[in-house]
Amino acid sequence: MSPAGPRPLGIGDPLYPRLGNPGYDVTAYDITLDYRRADRPLDAVTTIDARATAGLRTLNLDFTQGTVRSVRVDGAPAAFAAAGEDLVITPRTRLERGADFRVTVRHTSDPGDGASGGWVRTRDGLAMANQADAAHRVFPCNDHPSDKARFTFRVTAPKNLTVVAGGLPAGRVREGARTTWSYRLAHPMATELAQVSIGRSAVLHRTGPHGLPVRDVVPAADRKKLEKWLARTPGQLSWMEKKVGPYPFEDYGVLISQATTGFELETQTLSLFERGLFTGDEFPRWYVESIMLHELAHQWFGDSVSPRRWSDLWLNEGHATWYEALYADQYGKESLERRMRLAYEQSDAWRAAGGPPAAPRPAEPGKQIGLFRPIVYDGSALVLYALRERIGRAAFERLERQWVVRHRDGVASTTDFVRLASEVAGKDLNGFLHPWLYGRKTPTMPGHPDWKPAPKPDAKPGAKPGAKPGAKPTTKPGAKPSTKPGAKPAARSTPHGPTARHTVKPE
Ligand SMILES: [Zn+2]
Repeated sequence: MSPAGPRPLGIGDPLYPRLGNPGYDVTAYDITLDYRRADRPLDAVTTIDARATAGLRTLNLDFTQGTVRSVRVDGAPAAFAAAGEDLVITPRTRLERGADFRVTVRHTSDPGDGASGGWVRTRDGLAMANQADAAHRVFPCNDHPSDKARFTFRVTAPKNLTVVAGGLPAGRVREGARTTWSYRLAHPMATELAQVSIGRSAVLHRTGPHGLPVRDVVPAADRKKLEKWLARTPGQLSWMEKKVGPYPFEDYGVLISQATTGFELETQTLSLFERGLFTGDEFPRWYVESIMLHELAHQWFGDSVSPRRWSDLWLNEGHATWYEALYADQYGKESLERRMRLAYEQSDAWRAAGGPPAAPRPAEPGKQIGLFRPIVYDGSALVLYALRERIGRAAFERLERQWVVRHRDGVASTTDFVRLASEVAGKDLNGFLHPWLYGRKTPTMPGHPDWKPAPKPDAKPGAKPGAKPGAKPTTKPGAKPSTKPGAKPAARSTPHGPTARHTVKPE
């Protein structure tokens, strides 16, 4: 293509215009990493199997923060050049539409300071946090959740370290002082959900409902101390399965890392948590458990069913917050209705600060995490509450169950959700849902006409942490939600936690 020379491309995501690339569909990634020390770039080989969806003279991958040594397409050396955060590849011969092809990139993967997304530096090694747009800081890829693919990881590390990735083990080979660990995911995955943990970890196994393998990865020295939390997962899996149906993947577990990320993250089959969430006495037990439940709920909402565009993020966070809130409600710790009323009070201010749920405002450049604002958490759970009030509990629960079945291992949009809701409820819900999803003002809550936006100054954007776009994130260790033991949960009308991706981001 381009007579003008290599240039970065995107698939037209309204929030991240340069993410993803046109003209092909990735079917599989095979990522080989060679780890020596956390402060050194890893040597890497990323092999991508893809199919051309258009004739291609050049193709772009998203990649930055590493050195590319060579590129081959179907085994033949290919020319390459960097353009913005893209790697522009010119194969020797044009790729025809419909052709399957393989790209092999030899490169380094640089953890840098571990604070710009992608690799996270931990006290004992590395973990990964790629959401929303940082996978391409780790490996070359089509870095958009609308292009899911199979993943295999092969990681070589010093023999005293333990490597775990999402999915199931696919072999381990010891050679001298180094061990190579392989993992494969059984279901397609978005690049943003990849997880590789390298550290002094214990890997603990237990069994979830109907024999589901549960595998947790924790700092080896903390395994006893963390057991009371880890023991909750099988019950949480059963709880979620009762709500929405079978767990969608081959295994699950939590990765507790010795890092101060300021957030937790739903990496596929192995959710990432900060150690400090569990070891401090800052948060009441029910609260910590509801955050665990939030990340678990994402395995259905966000992981198995991925957003078509990042503006569909509310489908991830609204649902995860919904089940988190329902869980706290059922355990008698925080009434759902009360939490929703408080969200209602803030909703207009959240919309003013971050845009409506399904058309959020882009994050400021360099602060991509700024997208994770209150409006996509409690502000979007509120939309689900409104919908349940409108169509009734039975129809709402049918909708939720059908949603995760219909779009399992796939990609879905807000339009798909409105369509299915209408289908399940047996009435056209466009007119009802449109203002809830796209309106500048929060519509009247069905069944609660007395709910009103909070009067100013409470409703002033920025009055609450995280409510203001571009608000300076605090990176204080363990900084999280505003809920302290003894504090009335009422005090917390911000999205808290997971989760606090939202309010707190490493810089
Ligand atoms: Zn979340």
